[in-house]
Amino acid sequence: MSRAAVSSPAVRVSSAPGRLPGGPLVDAVHSHLAPRQVTLEALFARHPVLLRAYQNARGGGDVAAATAGRICSQLLLVDPVAVYGEAYLAATRASVRSQPPDGAVQLAVYQQVWDRMDAAATSGQWAGDLQDLLDDLALDQPARQLIRGLLAYGWVRVEHARAGGRVRGYRLVRRPNAAPVACAGPRCAEPIEIVAPDGTLRCPRPLYCSPRCRRAAATAHTVRRLDRLRGLAGLPPSGRDRLSDAEVDRLVHLLGRLPQARPPELPPTPERR
Ligand SMILES: [Zn+2]
Repeated sequence: MSRAAVSSPAVRVSSAPGRLPGGPLVDAVHSHLAPRQVTLEALFARHPVLLRAYQNARGGGDVAAATAGRICSQLLLVDPVAVYGEAYLAATRASVRSQPPDGAVQLAVYQQVWDRMDAAATSGQWAGDLQDLLDDLALDQPARQLIRGLLAYGWVRVEHARAGGRVRGYRLVRRPNAAPVACAGPRCAEPIEIVAPDGTLRCPRPLYCSPRCRRAAATAHTVRRLDRLRGLAGLPPSGRDRLSDAEVDRLVHLLGRLPQARPPELPPTPERR
């Protein structure tokens, strides 16, 4: 693609929130390279993802404000506002506004990210840099939120190195999909739609079909812990979420017979002597 094509009126000025036309970035890169005898390849040597975004901009495409910001501040060492003016500030504000509240992420975004991971995976395991991947896809989504959702729905799993337990990468389990999940309430398998009407995913798990199921799950948790306590005291499990008077008496009796956890008089410590 020639320079002439880039500055032609055919350059699309994006109205998408959080995106900027490529032209000013292309001009800024050219004026950075010209006096320095540095090649484009050398400038982007360690940033293949940014290079692809730049090449897309040079081909007449637009660029995510965040990506343009990285190229300006990290590679050209200029303030993106100096390159784009107020438009940069407006685009970064727009990209913040276009993000759904509370970290909700569109299912399509999860799928896009997962597919890209899958394409670069080795035997089902992906070990790339998520921020680079998001930049490459021109997504202004916080990487941490995305990975949290992928993990919560079981679409990816953390793979730890055998020795040391360092995170080695992510195992791709299954492609993000809209299949309903079963209610996590005890003895309830009511399917719950995980995609909200605006296309974002409900998060985090576990999901309950009703406040009743949420309360039942909390009660079941208490029962499990109390039954364990009953077992330690030699009492039969009762499945009740509170202790009966007889059970309390039994526990008081047992605790009274335990040797004191701390002797009444501490042996003299070196400081006391
Ligand atoms: Zn339920």
